[in-house]
Amino acid sequence: MKQRSFKEERKEMVEAQLISRGIKDPLVLNAFYKVPREKFVPSEQRDESYSDFPLPIGEEQTISQPYIVALMTEALRLKGEEKVLEIGTGSGYQAAIIAEIVKEVYSVERIAILAQRAKKILKELSYQNIKIKIGDGTKGWREFSPYDAIIVTAAAPKPPQSLIKQLAISGRLIVPVGNLYSQELILYEKRRGRLRTTNFGGCRFVPLKGEEGWK
Ligand code: SAM
Repeated sequence: MKQRSFKEERKEMVEAQLISRGIKDPLVLNAFYKVPREKFVPSEQRDESYSDFPLPIGEEQTISQPYIVALMTEALRLKGEEKVLEIGTGSGYQAAIIAEIVKEVYSVERIAILAQRAKKILKELSYQNIKIKIGDGTKGWREFSPYDAIIVTAAAPKPPQSLIKQLAISGRLIVPVGNLYSQELILYEKRRGRLRTTNFGGCRFVPLKGEEGWK
């Protein structure tokens, strides 16, 4: 029999992995207390749902470590009214976290089977403010631009220009930038036509593949 409920594991994850490492934004922490991560994890991995590392989700892709999801979300300084674009839907977990905070989430995934699975889970969990599309997210999703914030959850050689173009004035883009083996999490902020950058430290993501990513 399972010794602790997923709810208990979730609470412990928030305290031991997020708060203890400096995640403070109450909107972000509330989202993490709420979203059932175990629903986004394949059944073979379910016991590890709240572990402090990324997990495989099939198709050589991963659901990111909870702390990295929290760090990237907090960096975007979301308040509640925003329209956010995510590139790399994967399991759909990051989209659900953001959807708990903001008005509208748009998410693009290049692997159809992952996009379809994520759509199904998010529907079962009754999220009505997330739209998912299958395609090359390095080109963004022009139809609903500009976005107040854009989050790229795969490693890019450089920030895709199409995404910078689709940012609203004062918009924020967070993206892991580097080579295929290690990257830095960089926040780009559009300020009076200029880009201000902040480095949130080292990380390791699966590659962003596409026209403005890795070939
Ligand atoms: N955000 C996801 C989650 O919460 O589970 C984790 C994303 S996983 C680390 C990276 C995802 O980016 C993979 O699902 C991969 O297929 C996707 N990806 C890579 N290049 C892409 C592109 N050009 N457009 C859209 N998705 C892409």
